[in-house]
Amino acid sequence: MQSPNVTFSKEYLVVAQNASGRNLNVPIYKFVSSVPGPKVYIQSSIHGAEVQGNTVLLHILKALQSANLRGEVTLVPNCNPVGSNLKSGEYTLGRFDPVNGQNWNRAYHYNEDLIAEFSEKINPENSIEEIKYEYRQKLTASIEKRLENEWGLGLAECLNLKLQLMALHADIVLDLHNGPVSTRHIYVPEYAKESSKYFNIPHVILIPNKFSGALDEATFCPWWSLSDSLHERFPGVNWDFGIEAFTVEMGSQEVIDIDAGKVDADGILCYLSYKECFVTPLEHPKIMTRQAVYLKDYKIMYSRFGGMVEYVAKPGQYIKKGEVMARVLNIDELEGEDAVSNVNAPCDLIPILHFPSASVLGGTQIYKCFTNYFKI
Ligand SMILES: [Zn+2]
Repeated sequence: MQSPNVTFSKEYLVVAQNASGRNLNVPIYKFVSSVPGPKVYIQSSIHGAEVQGNTVLLHILKALQSANLRGEVTLVPNCNPVGSNLKSGEYTLGRFDPVNGQNWNRAYHYNEDLIAEFSEKINPENSIEEIKYEYRQKLTASIEKRLENEWGLGLAECLNLKLQLMALHADIVLDLHNGPVSTRHIYVPEYAKESSKYFNIPHVILIPNKFSGALDEATFCPWWSLSDSLHERFPGVNWDFGIEAFTVEMGSQEVIDIDAGKVDADGILCYLSYKECFVTPLEHPKIMTRQAVYLKDYKIMYSRFGGMVEYVAKPGQYIKKGEVMARVLNIDELEGEDAVSNVNAPCDLIPILHFPSASVLGGTQIYKCFTNYFKI
């Protein structure tokens, strides 16, 4: 039963329009508590083939229906209705806009000048809450200005900015994705490393304060940079704004596993419990091995051969230097020694994901791997 402190609402946001002139919208499920607490924003499937996050949101929504929430939670499933409907044969073309090749998760807004300009006006007398409010006003205005561009905007850009306008009001932003064939892993900003122990996700990628267009970066970079700039000007003052954002990779694309979605949802609820989003914690972290890497040690392996690939190394396996990771069949050399070529591990590593297709051209990214990994 819904807690009397919590109100639930469901609205739709128009994010695009199809060639028939019809609006494409996304549902926005919102839980708001009268008890103050963090604001949370979670979206799934900005990459249309990455669907597991939608089952995760189902389970989170069910949990929120009876949870004693503090603050607010906004859930936006299947946030890219264009991407999830782009099919080619049996597959979803979910990662890029096929019209212009734009990655659906790379057009969020980041205005570096605004950070420096805003930082100049702050002094230690300003409260954290006051700064957060003013800064959000500035960030909102900056995005709205871009949305109002009289020359118009690309589809991905427009979609991203509309979603970002909602996300920037949150203290915690989770963007749910999937790899191609993948183990569960999470991108964590280096300053929020401690939080990675609460997700029940075995593989953690620690990322720097660098904006490359994705929602997690667009969320944390402005606050991280502001915090750094203020620390420089006023050392010894607490400039922690409590903003955290993560890209969470929930296994493989094109897979819906509703039972596994419950486990994934429990992991997120565990993190939200740690962040005091509930009056009493809903979940506690599992005792498990969590391996982490810095982004520079998350390596891409390219196939040196074209051919048909058997992926021997499975996502999440510990592989030693020299072990066979993949075997590539060359149909132009079947009678000779080179019919099958091995791809060997260049160092000790953990493959996190691999290319989903068994036929590859030379130069294809076949694996992404943890190297120089460490327990967290
Ligand atoms: Zn993705």
